[in-house]
Amino acid sequence: DSHVADRQVDSVCPYCGVGCQLTYHIKDDEILFVEGRDGPSNHNRLCVKGRFGFDYPRHAARLTTPLIRRAGVAKGLDPDFDPAQPLSHFREASWEEALDAAAGGLTALKAERGPAALAGFGSAKCSNEEAWLFQKLVRTGFGSNNVDHCTRLCHASSVAALMECIGSGAVTASFMQAEQADVVILTGCNPTVNHPVAATFFKQAAKRGTKLIVIDPRGQALGAYAHQTLRFTPGSDVSLFNAMLNVIVSEGLYDQSYIDAHTEGFEALKAHVAEMTPEAMAPACGVSAEEIRQVAREYATAERAMIFWGMGISQHTHGTDNARCLISLALACGHTGRPGTGLHPLRGQNNVQGASDAGLIPMVMPDYQPVSDAQVRSAFEELWNTELDPEPGLTVVEIMDAVHAGTIRGMYIQGENPAMSDPDLDHARAALAKLEHLVVQDLFVTETAQFADVILPASAWPEKDGSVTNTNRQVQMGRAAMPLPGDAKPDWWIIQEIARRFGLAWDYGHPREVFAEMQRGMPSLDHISWERLEREDSVTYPCPADDAPGADVVFSDAFPTASGRARFSPTVPLPPDEPIDGDYPTVLTTGRQLEHWHTGSMTRRAKVLDDLEPEAVASLSPGELRRLGLQPGDALTITTRRGSITLGARADMLMPDGMVFVPFCYAEAAANVLTNPALDPYGKIPEFKYAACRLTAA
Ligand code: SF4
Repeated sequence: DSHVADRQVDSVCPYCGVGCQLTYHIKDDEILFVEGRDGPSNHNRLCVKGRFGFDYPRHAARLTTPLIRRAGVAKGLDPDFDPAQPLSHFREASWEEALDAAAGGLTALKAERGPAALAGFGSAKCSNEEAWLFQKLVRTGFGSNNVDHCTRLCHASSVAALMECIGSGAVTASFMQAEQADVVILTGCNPTVNHPVAATFFKQAAKRGTKLIVIDPRGQALGAYAHQTLRFTPGSDVSLFNAMLNVIVSEGLYDQSYIDAHTEGFEALKAHVAEMTPEAMAPACGVSAEEIRQVAREYATAERAMIFWGMGISQHTHGTDNARCLISLALACGHTGRPGTGLHPLRGQNNVQGASDAGLIPMVMPDYQPVSDAQVRSAFEELWNTELDPEPGLTVVEIMDAVHAGTIRGMYIQGENPAMSDPDLDHARAALAKLEHLVVQDLFVTETAQFADVILPASAWPEKDGSVTNTNRQVQMGRAAMPLPGDAKPDWWIIQEIARRFGLAWDYGHPREVFAEMQRGMPSLDHISWERLEREDSVTYPCPADDAPGADVVFSDAFPTASGRARFSPTVPLPPDEPIDGDYPTVLTTGRQLEHWHTGSMTRRAKVLDDLEPEAVASLSPGELRRLGLQPGDALTITTRRGSITLGARADMLMPDGMVFVPFCYAEAAANVLTNPALDPYGKIPEFKYAACRLTAA
């Protein structure tokens, strides 16, 4: 029977940071269907992506052989690109030839111009072991710390604030703790769309009596379960949160004994927020002073309360300030370190937590140990038997700027798609075209791969063994369920072959050997061996013993800062980098759709998901549509100072007037042509959530 599986393989969903455990049902080495498993973060549930988005590895356009750019073909997006005909600009090559060409171009640039001429983007879609190997290659082979990944476009600002204020960039409590909270604030996140199975935990908590407070300019499905919603003016977040802090201070709602025992800097914060009353801030925030007071009181007076946030907080030029405010709220009220309390930036990619932990970050080594710290460097120098560069490397957007400046000349990009994901795409694509040597390792000829000199066909998640770490700090085991197609290779093997051509004597035979090395450099993995992961599937870090469960809630006694105390970091409200004006009167915001993942390289090649959302659409309020004289489905042109796109208009009752939302997965109407590359000064994250635009009927 062609519909009966002949075997089952347990693994983890490849899409979002919730980290749902699943079982592949396999027939003749192909996935027939996928079922949710009883993992700690999903209890058998899956969303539409986890359930139906598994056929992309067998898409007709899957890369199955290495490719080398044909001589004389100019670099750039091919306007006639046909995924079914990927060879027009490239020719097939053997692995030997492709690897020699890939590494040869990079080593030649290093010899000619030094280590600073090279950079690498790793991937939050790859395993922990692959992330470890990639950053190790850049640091020990390329010879600099120019390695980054999509965390720079996602929670870099949250991590900057968390590191500064509490000494750790990971969540302080899992999202399952929401079920024990009396109050849950969700701000700058839309879990029903972006973390769908986490949203089910929030719904259940609300049904059992937890008060959900949704703070966001856009409405969302969880609003139906909310005790209160606060739909504030886009970009006024810092004003709003400071006004909440003002209420907590002026009404004496703070937890003095917690503050005395665990924090420093509260007196300065108190003085700082004294003038930022709800009455003073309400006009900028577009909500009433009374609403601000109510929300502040609900949060502060709850016995147990949590704050969850997403890209709506982090992707601003004031993203770090946003997160600092949320941390101050939690510290002032003593809402960390106990069950049902905590701070939780909801992680996007399935392994953005793990890839960050494993060191795909230019200023820190694995486990966030600063590259500028001589002791840290010497420990890794001993582990890797090499010398390391003491200078922090460049970040994602800085690397693109350095390409334009002529400093960076060669790049190795694994599984990322900056030709779709970077802000101000014309600028980013021009940088990719300018590179003297670009190696791309991926599953498909992505938009980025169209700029490559060499394309290396890599492994899809269901084809490999490896660990990934979800938003809850749960390290989970993924297992190969099906063979690699054609001549595609495991990512760890490809990185190793490049490393060998840089003269590094690597000899890993399996990801488990990489994981064993990671345990020697990453204290966070203490007591979490590969064998334990194989046995238990999921272990939360930090974990106190080989036979103990990991800590769902952390920092009950002390924070991992030098003083053991958390720190309040006052913030000053600033306007968005590009406020709306008469020429560009509408706020553009970007993000994901439920059915599509990031730049669409996987989900637009998954049949069910692509059937559900096949075309580029922009969401607007019915009022905005009327103002433009448009019917749903009509063509709409969106223009910013950087470019313009045309796509279908969709009526969305949850959108406020004066705002348009565009998903960034559609190459044919790429949202990031429009976005503003201005960076948050601390997290170096671009302002994807606010750009001034103009809407016209197309
Ligand atoms: Fe996958 Fe996230 Fe959906 Fe779970 S919620 S099935 S991890 S995309």
